[in-house]
Amino acid sequence: MISLGNTRFGPAGFPDTAKGKLSRVFEILDEVGLDALEYAAVYGLRLGKSRARQIGQLAKSHKILMSMHEAYYISLVSKDVQVRKRSKNRLVKALKYAPLMGVKRIVFHAGGYSGFGPEEAYQVVKDTLQEVWEKAGEQGSGTFLFPEVAGKLGAFGSVDELVQLCSEIDGTLPTIDWAHLYARSQGEISDKDSYLRVIGQFETALGKQFTDNLHFHVSGVNYTERGEKSHRPLGGDWGPDILPLMEIVSEVGYKPTFISETPSPVRGALYAKALYKELEKVKG
Ligand SMILES: [Zn+2]
Repeated sequence: MISLGNTRFGPAGFPDTAKGKLSRVFEILDEVGLDALEYAAVYGLRLGKSRARQIGQLAKSHKILMSMHEAYYISLVSKDVQVRKRSKNRLVKALKYAPLMGVKRIVFHAGGYSGFGPEEAYQVVKDTLQEVWEKAGEQGSGTFLFPEVAGKLGAFGSVDELVQLCSEIDGTLPTIDWAHLYARSQGEISDKDSYLRVIGQFETALGKQFTDNLHFHVSGVNYTERGEKSHRPLGGDWGPDILPLMEIVSEVGYKPTFISETPSPVRGALYAKALYKELEKVKG
């Protein structure tokens, strides 16, 4: 069993240098000192069961915490019932494959509001996710669904929406994407007070289950008035500044998993880890 009790760092997707070779993927993570991996099923989960099992075995032997990012085109809010049905099926399939792959967290975007008002959209997402959980929750053997904070203002996934959603539906916990949140808040959420406010809002509503399963995405980001435009490296002028976030993690003793979604995700994960390790060192 892979311990969740560590602060972990890893890339979104396989390291490029592994060239898709599974054994290399996990060797590289070991070599550079990373211990989490978010499998990118962003264009759909397209692998057979034997490859899924192989991933699970390698992750276990290398002690890598696995999550999975489901397809970008999932839309639980679509007005088209068929699109919603296909999106549901994707999550059901992900829950079935998760135990094979050692995946404990299925990350996904709920989708754009598609012309629904926010309240209507909320109800649609809630009903759809509830159906997914009732149908396939058990098949995940302890795997949770991790809806993500959305970077575009036109997409479902504000902090308030996710707090409510995760409070009301079993089997769901949030993925806090700090770059998305920065873009969505037009640069406002980038200091210690605002980071603490967000974490506190989830913690108050979801308690220990939330703090025991913190799942963070980090990256730099460019944004417009509509929200997220493109992911950028960490540490640049574009923000968000993740140092205050690392200070909180280090001071409070939270144990999040940090997944880097920077243009070079392994480097981004190592950058985040370096900041954290430096702060731990100062702490003594
Ligand atoms: Zn993300």
